[in-house]
Amino acid sequence: MSAHVPFDRRDLDFLLHEVEGVSALCRHPRFADHSRETFDATLDAAAELAMAKFASHNRASDLSEPHFVDGRVKILPAVKDALDAYAEAGFSALLADAEEGGMQLPYTVALACDAMFAAANVSTAGYALLARGVANLLRAHATPAQCARYRTPILQGRFLGTMCLSEPQAGSSLGDIRTRAEPAGDGHYRLSGAKMWISGGEHDLSDNIIHLVLARLPDAPPGVKGISLFIVPKFRVNDDGTLGARNDVQLAGVNHKLGQRGIVNTFLKFGERGDCFGELVGAPHQGLAQMFHMMNEARIGVGVGAIMLGSAGYRYALQYARERRQGRHPDQKDPASPPVALIEHADVRRMLLQQKARVEGALGLAMHAATLVDAHDQDPDPARRAEAHRLLELLTPVVKAWSADACLEANDLAIQVLGGYGYTREYPVEQCWRDNRLNPIHEGANGIQALDLLGRKAMMDGGAALKALLREIAATAAEAGKVPALAEHALALVRAAGLVARTTGVLGQAMARGEVRLALANASRYLRLVGHVAIAWIWLRQARVASAAAPASAADRDFYAGKLAACRWFFVHELPTIEHDAALLAALDRCALDTPPDVL
Ligand SMILES: Cc1cc2nc3c(=O)[nH]c(=O)nc-3n(C[C@H](O)[C@H](O)[C@H](O)COP(=O)(O)OP(=O)(O)OC[C@H]3O[C@@H](n4cnc5c(N)ncnc54)[C@H](O)[C@@H]3O)c2cc1C
Repeated sequence: MSAHVPFDRRDLDFLLHEVEGVSALCRHPRFADHSRETFDATLDAAAELAMAKFASHNRASDLSEPHFVDGRVKILPAVKDALDAYAEAGFSALLADAEEGGMQLPYTVALACDAMFAAANVSTAGYALLARGVANLLRAHATPAQCARYRTPILQGRFLGTMCLSEPQAGSSLGDIRTRAEPAGDGHYRLSGAKMWISGGEHDLSDNIIHLVLARLPDAPPGVKGISLFIVPKFRVNDDGTLGARNDVQLAGVNHKLGQRGIVNTFLKFGERGDCFGELVGAPHQGLAQMFHMMNEARIGVGVGAIMLGSAGYRYALQYARERRQGRHPDQKDPASPPVALIEHADVRRMLLQQKARVEGALGLAMHAATLVDAHDQDPDPARRAEAHRLLELLTPVVKAWSADACLEANDLAIQVLGGYGYTREYPVEQCWRDNRLNPIHEGANGIQALDLLGRKAMMDGGAALKALLREIAATAAEAGKVPALAEHALALVRAAGLVARTTGVLGQAMARGEVRLALANASRYLRLVGHVAIAWIWLRQARVASAAAPASAADRDFYAGKLAACRWFFVHELPTIEHDAALLAALDRCALDTPPDVL
């Protein structure tokens, strides 16, 4: 087979320029020095680096996972090479201010770059994304002195970082964390406790590792209101920026994972020797809210990781289906006739269309969510900023959880397209599936995202965010309704949006009556319902652009026709399945709620 490129640069260009019109962001003073040319040059550089340095060791780092030798973690040298090249090319500071040495790019363009790195090698990209998340959180909540000590070296690519939330007994329920922080008397804190599942928790890939750790102060109220945030460096950093003594953070073990094996996952112990130095970030007891800065970003990142693994699998399966010959059409009776390519079979095209509709639909939603981040940060109009924020809050659990579920299923279909070969380690699609299997679990398990969507986001401010989404959907449907080929889809979308509104009303009333457990019992189904409608909306936006486009070449004509075919697939085969979800939700189905734990 010809070289496999796990992402579709043409699709990213389509979403960025033709659907979202990102060049318009250059009207904001922050991006005034940018243009379509600088955006495209950055994307070209990301695409090249992703293929040359990240994709090139994706398989090797799966086969040779990090291991524990004499208290140290050994990692494939290619991982460090890739991260050094990434920093050298300025990607560690994509979003940072020009005066900090950053590229000062819009988040939307940065996310498109992230997408290509994730498609090429989700594990190695994970180190870089964690570090960026730490840098962004510090910018939002740390003091200038803390930023100079810890953020600047991250932007320069010298330090990496982690997020230390989970503990062995507290994953989804962070209110139950037990790590403690005692004032040391000199303005610093001494931490003690254990953190589980910490990605990038120990390695020699960078000069230092900046752990952001959630812990409780001695006077902390119970639950989430008593959590504070601390910077805990692997090596202390002196005032002049040089590295000091090793901090009391011990690697207690390395977890052996199903997938994403290239990024080390650790069990860390803090303060085993009673000397774990930490600096408080911001005010006490604000830790979870501050950490949400990083978690929200990470949730979009996890969604994009899931989508790009879906993309990698889809693109491999597509290429394979074009090249592998097997069988004949049902009406071809001559056994001497040559076998046809797999893609000639309608059932194989079904599996490919389903992958394309999910992957490209979810990528469209993630890119749209990214534009909301830029609008929220840059729009001069406070009302538009507030609206963007509301929509982003609502869509974040959908981008994370819908994409993780749907694109994992896409990887399952990619294996199916390859048949027996797909089930072997000689082909890359099984690794895509294993790598993707993490995404419904981490960064808030999908069940927790569903509770967040229904219990909080859809209900907040009298349902303002959901109403905003439904207004956007209605506007797209009204425009698409004027295009004869899309009119039927536009009507279906209006009906589907009505279903979301009515279902949410029933569930909201149940919650208002105090039947919270009943209303939330099928929250995962609600996320599926809202997710399907959001993706249908995104497909209609893409189809409008595709149907009005003037193709410049035969490849372009195929590209736009492919968009229309995938949109049609989604409206005909996927969207109607929400009727069942909506019916069960509106009936306040009690199956799971009423089944006593003892009978299972
Ligand atoms: C490979 C990997 C990397 C990770 N990286 C990091 C990291 O870098 N930093 C970090 O802090 N953490 C990290 N995590 C931890 C991850 O975020 C947690 O695994 C996740 O939050 C779930 O917590 P848990 O594993 O304890 O599962 P649990 O919380 O025990 O949940 C198990 C299941 O029960 C469900 N459930 C739990 N509570 C409820 C509830 N109240 N209502 C309904 N259903 C519920 C969940 O949806 C889930 O399906 C990582 C995990 C893995 C596997």
